[in-house]
Amino acid sequence: MTDSVDRHRPSNRRRLLAGASSVAVAAALLTAAPPGATAASSTSSGPTARGTGGAVSSVDVNASKIGRDVLARGGNAADAAVAMASALGVAEPYSAGIGGGGYFVYYDAKRKKVSTIDGRETAPAGISRNAFIDPATGKPYPFTPQLVSSGAAVGVPGTVATWDAALKRFGTRSLKQSLAPSIRLARKGFVVDKTFRNQTLDNAERFAAFPDTAKLFLPGGDAPKVGKRFRNPELARTLTSIANRGPNAFYRGVLAKDIAKVVQSPRKDPASTLPAPAGTLTAKDMARYRVRNQKPTHIDYRGHEVYGMAPSSSGGTSVAEALNILETYRLGSGKRLGRSLHLYLEASARAFADRGKYVGDPKFVKVPTKTLLSQRFANSRRCTVDDSKASTRPVPAGALRGRGCGTVAQQEKPDTENVSTTHLSVVDKWGNAAAYTLTIEQTGGSAMTVPRRGFLLNNELTDFTAAYDPADPNRIAPGKRPRSSMAPTIVLKNGKVKYVVGSPGGATIITTVLQILVNRIDLGMSLPQAVAAPRASQRNAAATPAEPAFIRKYEGLLAPYGQALTPSGDQFTSAAEIGAAATIEVGRGGQLIAAAEPKRRGGGTGMVVRPRR
Ligand code: GLU
Repeated sequence: MTDSVDRHRPSNRRRLLAGASSVAVAAALLTAAPPGATAASSTSSGPTARGTGGAVSSVDVNASKIGRDVLARGGNAADAAVAMASALGVAEPYSAGIGGGGYFVYYDAKRKKVSTIDGRETAPAGISRNAFIDPATGKPYPFTPQLVSSGAAVGVPGTVATWDAALKRFGTRSLKQSLAPSIRLARKGFVVDKTFRNQTLDNAERFAAFPDTAKLFLPGGDAPKVGKRFRNPELARTLTSIANRGPNAFYRGVLAKDIAKVVQSPRKDPASTLPAPAGTLTAKDMARYRVRNQKPTHIDYRGHEVYGMAPSSSGGTSVAEALNILETYRLGSGKRLGRSLHLYLEASARAFADRGKYVGDPKFVKVPTKTLLSQRFANSRRCTVDDSKASTRPVPAGALRGRGCGTVAQQEKPDTENVSTTHLSVVDKWGNAAAYTLTIEQTGGSAMTVPRRGFLLNNELTDFTAAYDPADPNRIAPGKRPRSSMAPTIVLKNGKVKYVVGSPGGATIITTVLQILVNRIDLGMSLPQAVAAPRASQRNAAATPAEPAFIRKYEGLLAPYGQALTPSGDQFTSAAEIGAAATIEVGRGGQLIAAAEPKRRGGGTGMVVRPRR
C-alpha cells in the first residue's frame, strides 16, 4: 500500500510550482505557509469545551457555533448535525458539501436505538469497468492530479438526500430551517484562515484547469488572502432553492441537468494539460439516487457498546475487528505502554488485510459483515499476532471458516484514498447523538465546480480499485458504492451515550478512530488528551506512517518489538498530520466534554450549550 498521507500533500505543492498556469498563483505560493501548517482560529473559541445542555464538535468554528445555536434553541442532535454539515459545506468547501456524500450514525435516546444512513455516492448506470483506464496507454490514469480531476471520478452525490432522510427520520426541524444559517454564512462569508488558503494553493493547478472553479476559488488568479472574507452567493442561492423546494431541487430538474452536463463534458481551460476524462453521470442517475438505511455495526469492547457504519464503508467493521483483537489483551499505560502500542499496530494491520479482502458494497458482493464483527474471527486473527515481535507486513487476510489461525492469500491493492473529508459530532440535552462524516473525497474533490452553483463535485469513485479485478470486492460496477474508510462511531455505556468519535483522513480515519478509543479506554488518557496524542497509522503496509511526535515519543518503546525496524526492514515514515478528529464524551452526571483538535488542520472547535464555570 502506498501512503496517501505522505504521498499527496508535498507532491501537490511541487507539481503546482512546476505547472501553475498563473503567475499570481505561483507568486502567492512563495508566501504561503508550509504544508500542514496550522492556523490560529479566527475567533477565541477553543478546541475543548465542558458543560451541559448539549455539545458539538467540528473542525470549523462557524459550523460549531451554528450547531450549538440549534441545540440552544431546542433543536435535537439530528437538527444540529444537518445545520452543521451544511455550514461545513460552506466553510470547508474543499472537504465536503452538497457535491459529495457521507455516513450518518444516530442514537435515538427515546427508542434506545442506533441507526445509520448510508449517503455514499453511487457509480452512474453508464460506467464501464474501464472508466479509469486511459485509452491512449491502456493503463489506469495516474491517480493525482489526472484521475481525481475528472468527470469519470464523479459519483452521484448523496449528501442532500442524507440531510433530508436524517431530518425526516430523527429531526424536529424542516430542511428550510436547518439550511437557513448556512445560507446566511454563504452570503455573508467567513474569514479566510491559513488552512483554507493553503488548501486552495495546494489545489491551484487543478482549480486553474477548470474556469468555473478558478473564478470561484482563485479570484484574480490567487487564493483568497488570510483575514479576507470569502463569500459564495451562488452557493447561497443553490442552498436556498434546496431549502425551499426540498431534495427534488437537487436531484431533479435544472440543477441535476447542470451536474450531468459538467460531468459529461468538463469545461476545461484549453491551456491545461490535465486530461479531465468525461464521466457518464446523467440526470436520470441523479433522480434514481437513494440513501440506504441499514443496521449499524456493533461490538462489545470492555463493557462498551461500539456502533459504527456497516459496508459500503469499511470503517465500522475495521475498527470493530481491531478492537475485538485488542480486547483479548491487557492494555495499559506505564510499563504496558510499549506492548500496547505494538498490539495496536498489529491489530490494525490485520483489520486492513481483511477489509481489503472482503469489504465492498454488499448490494454487489457478498460481504461477511457478521463474521468480521465476531469475536471468534478476531480470536483467529489474534492467533497470528506475536505479542513480542512485529509481523512481516503485509500480513495475509484471515480465513472466514475453520479453526485456528487460518489465513488466505490476498493481493494488496494500492491505497488510493485521500486526506480530505470532515467530521462532526453532536450530543443533545435528551441524550441523542449524531456522528456524521461527510466528504467530497480529495481535498478540492474533482476540482470541477458546477457553473454558477457555487459548489465542487466529488471524485469519490476513485475509492474504487482503479484497475478492474474480478476478485476484488471493490471493483467498479454501475450503481455501486465505492468502499469507504469513514468511521463515524457512537459508543454507549450502560445504555447511554458515552463517546461520539470520527475523523477525516481517508484510510487513516480507521486508525485515528481506533487510536482515540484505545487512548481513552485503555491508556488512561482524558478525551482531549486522546485526541491530541500523536498518531500512527499501520494499514498493513511494511512501513507505518506516523506523526513526527509519535516517532519521537514512542520509537524507543516500540524498538524492542521490531516496530521501529520490522522484519522486512521497514520503519516509521513521517506523516505531517494524521486525521482531524471531532469528538464528545458524556461524563458523570451528564457533564459533557466536546473535544476537537487543538492543532491539526488549523484546530477545531468544541462547544457546549451551558459552559461550566
Ligand atoms: N473517500 C474517502 C473515504 O470514503 C474519504 C476521503 C478522505 O477522508 O480523505 O474513505
